[in-house]
Amino acid sequence: MKFFSEIYGQNNAIDLLRRSFDRRMVSHAYLFCGPSGVGKKTCAVAFARALLCRQPLKGDACGECRSCRQVEGGNHPDFIKVEPDGGSIKIEQAREIQRRMTLAPFQGGRQICLIDRAESMTDEAANCFLKILEEPPAGVVFLLICVQPYALPATVLSRCQQVLFQLLPISQVALILAGSPGVKQEEADLTALLSGGSVGQAIDLLSGGALAERRKQLAQTINAIDSAGPGEACRLAGSLSGSREETLAWIQGLMLWYRDLLVWKESENEKLIINRDFLQAIKEQASYREVSLLIDRLRKIEEARNRLSRNANPRLVLDVLFLNLCRPAELA
Ligand SMILES: [Zn+2]
Repeated sequence: MKFFSEIYGQNNAIDLLRRSFDRRMVSHAYLFCGPSGVGKKTCAVAFARALLCRQPLKGDACGECRSCRQVEGGNHPDFIKVEPDGGSIKIEQAREIQRRMTLAPFQGGRQICLIDRAESMTDEAANCFLKILEEPPAGVVFLLICVQPYALPATVLSRCQQVLFQLLPISQVALILAGSPGVKQEEADLTALLSGGSVGQAIDLLSGGALAERRKQLAQTINAIDSAGPGEACRLAGSLSGSREETLAWIQGLMLWYRDLLVWKESENEKLIINRDFLQAIKEQASYREVSLLIDRLRKIEEARNRLSRNANPRLVLDVLFLNLCRPAELA
């Protein structure tokens, strides 16, 4: 569990929260939005702990009082955490929030309700939640965490104070990673580049988690797509499709990969390659692809990324992208 002072690179967000806390101008709802893995949840929990702390110091929790210890131990009775049940936050969960928040706080202070992946609320849940936001019980603070705020109804958005989080500069991610035990500088630099500025993704990569697996699959997919017909292209898209966030990660992975192919083709400079640990595959794949084809692929991937950001269906975006990628450039 972190204090505000231990969270890197999100000074604007932290300043906003500390100021509202210091000046006793705490809103009844905050929306923590930004890319995944940049510290939104860490920051929301730090804020919740400060709000519940009995002897806060300089806009932060003391870390020692009973309340701080309870938040730390995950058993503070007035700190409720809600996350999607299956793929979404359902109406029953929203009703339960409504019920809990109308009860008096157990410890007489504030009640905090943290809602993770808030954009996954069903329409019914969002409507029910909106009613609570319209007449918030005194002392209740909602902390909503989301990656895609536009997926929430505008009526909910307009009732929350937005706290914006950004990707960190690559150099800062490298610095954070290099400070971790057992991580060499070269490994930290490469991982930071691949993470695109998300410490969460960088840690996942280092620990051989989902992201590391994804990159291996990416290398194979790019080979397969060239010889694929439309049916096979859709099958490949289907094998990768998942949530909006996962789909975006695939698209970004594809983009970095094709970028590397193009950079190698044009420069043959190993230092400019991001996927440096797949250098052999990059060189080989670049050798039989024309520059014009690589530029065409990058455009199509960018189009797919734009469609996804305009809230298109993730599976459909991947289907269309893969159908486009498997065709020769001049026909697409
Ligand atoms: Zn405390």
